[in-house]
Amino acid sequence: MASHIVKVLESKFITHDVKKIRVERPKEYSFIPGQGTEVAINLPEWKSQLRPFTFTNPLDARYLEFMIKIYRDHNGVTNKIGGINAGDELIIHDVFGTIEYKGKGTFIAAGTGITPFIAIFRALYDNNKLRGNRLIYVNKTSEDIIMGQELFMMFKKDFVNVLTRENTIGYIGKRIDRNFLIENIVDFNQQFYVCGPESFVSDINKNLLELGAEPEFLVFEQ
Ligand SMILES: Cc1cc2nc3c(=O)[nH]c(=O)nc-3n(C[C@H](O)[C@H](O)[C@H](O)COP(=O)(O)OP(=O)(O)OC[C@H]3O[C@@H](n4cnc5c(N)ncnc54)[C@H](O)[C@@H]3O)c2cc1C
Repeated sequence: MASHIVKVLESKFITHDVKKIRVERPKEYSFIPGQGTEVAINLPEWKSQLRPFTFTNPLDARYLEFMIKIYRDHNGVTNKIGGINAGDELIIHDVFGTIEYKGKGTFIAAGTGITPFIAIFRALYDNNKLRGNRLIYVNKTSEDIIMGQELFMMFKKDFVNVLTRENTIGYIGKRIDRNFLIENIVDFNQQFYVCGPESFVSDINKNLLELGAEPEFLVFEQ
């Protein structure tokens, strides 16, 4: 497995618990939007602890970017990444991932499950090809939304913003269940992209299939 030590160029919180980290991009290191790599912190006691994260940078950027949710409740890798600053080093590995764009459809994301889609949306938007896609994005509260302004700007009326623990005007406040899907999706004979916690992905996929979606039109991380 190839590995690259990369310097952190920028490190800042973009929500109360999500950090945007930009690192140097190794020469000829390329990826398909939706893919990620395993990341470790280049410190003796941390370099063998690899965790998967997804690239969110534009394809032609000179840097690589990650959006990383920091779990402060235990001493894991993300907690340590919470204290990483510009000039520190990470180790990145081979590119992997099964999520990629396969044509216009509906993207359904929960929390940091938005990260593989951000790279896809940015690539489509830059090429004027985002129109015709829809986004359903679920979070607990408005404070948890990652890149909300950019997503609103890109999707406009095709952005369904769901908050499960808030009833704010302009947002839909409930869980995504079978009824929600029926109310919000007119045609199930289309491409779907699903990303989020494992239970979210399996629940949504199960409901989509029962409502008529075709298995070959379901894209998710396997
Ligand atoms: C393909 C893929 C791509 C991903 N891309 C991204 C991404 O772009 N951005 C992103 O933010 N995440 C992403 N993730 C999730 C990310 O990899 C995990 O959040 C990360 O590995 C957590 O690492 P950790 O060492 O901090 O926590 P781990 O120790 O690995 O724990 C993970 C989970 O268990 C809980 N947990 C474990 N031990 C304890 C404990 N002792 N006390 C309390 N809670 C505990 C944590 O709260 C957390 O929910 C991706 C995952 C996959 C599979």
